[in-house]
Amino acid sequence: MNLLLIRLIIFAVLFLAGLKLYRLYREWKLEQEQHDDLPEGGKMVRCAWCQVHVPEDEALRDKPTAAWFCCSAHRDRFLQEHDPEA
Ligand SMILES: [Zn+2]
Repeated sequence: MNLLLIRLIIFAVLFLAGLKLYRLYREWKLEQEQHDDLPEGGKMVRCAWCQVHVPEDEALRDKPTAAWFCCSAHRDRFLQEHDPEA
């Protein structure tokens, strides 16, 4: 009878410890995912040509059209296709 009680207590402690660890792991994982969404607190913009998301401070902006680009090559191609004079 006593042995059964001790086993039950050990099982309960192990179960609670596992539950606690699982919750800690889930919280940690959620935090990691949130960090992925907002890298270094920078704002993300989308390249108008290739649709790739780039940080605002690394992106190029075309002032007349207010469009964002990941590189000057994409800006040039986009402007070529959207400029009726060219
Ligand atoms: Zn691009």
